[in-house]
Amino acid sequence: DPILRLEGLTKTYNRGKPGEVQVLRDVDLALAPGEVAALVAPSGAGKSTLLHIAGLLDTPDAGRVVIGGQDMTGTSDRARTAMRRRDIGFIYQFHHLLPEFSAAENIVLPQLANGTGADEARARAEDLLDRVGIKPRAMHRPAALSGGEQQRVAFCRALANGPRLLLADEPTGNLDPATSEQVFAALMELVSGTGLSALIATHNMELAARMDRMLRLEEGQIVG
Ligand code: ADP
Ligand code: ADP
Repeated sequence: DPILRLEGLTKTYNRGKPGEVQVLRDVDLALAPGEVAALVAPSGAGKSTLLHIAGLLDTPDAGRVVIGGQDMTGTSDRARTAMRRRDIGFIYQFHHLLPEFSAAENIVLPQLANGTGADEARARAEDLLDRVGIKPRAMHRPAALSGGEQQRVAFCRALANGPRLLLADEPTGNLDPATSEQVFAALMELVSGTGLSALIATHNMELAARMDRMLRLEEGQIVG
């Protein structure tokens, strides 16, 4: 069974008003366990809208969002929040790390909030930081880290609670090409072999070509 299934998603902003824009038209998409798919589209094409709907942060006008076989259409905010916390990791273009906490603490805190014990949470944070090559940076606050290091910490945080689905919106969009390359490799290192499914929006065609599948969002529909 797919980890993520989107069926017939339609989304229009400002319906019936000036500035009405149909962003998604009958979008279908299925992501198998362990599959890493690129979502490629020009800016303004609706990538963030699609990721927010898939991540249960927004609702479509029509269509269904099924996560891990569970149809989330019309479910309560509480059920959606529980699903988000348990099964979905988010990564953005900007890291959104807590500035007053260290890299390790930024990865520990979501685990504590999820009921994991402190020792286990710390061990997992160290293991994640090690896998992305920045364990020596564990005690640094975000401001003391480079942009690429900050983003790698954000990846670790997104995976801290062992989600089944990772949604990333331009995860290397704020980095120079050489750093993008390193940071992307770190992300693939974290994802590969874990069975985690990922949908990664990017403008970078070279990176997109290295994922399992490339999905293009054009005129509100997925092609290719
Ligand atoms: P992308 O992530 O591909 O740049 P978005 O999903 O952010 O695209 O936006 C797609 C389109 O929908 C754009 O034309 C954008 O201006 C519009 N849009 C996004 N969010 C809103 C909103 N909350 N209200 C009105 N229009 C929006
Ligand atoms: P918590 O209170 O535990 O952070 P939330 O339901 O607020 O739980 O968030 C669950 C997940 O959804 C987190 O990964 C969070 O970063 C993400 N999230 C929550 N709200 C937004 C939002 N408006 N935009 C993007 N991501 C969000």
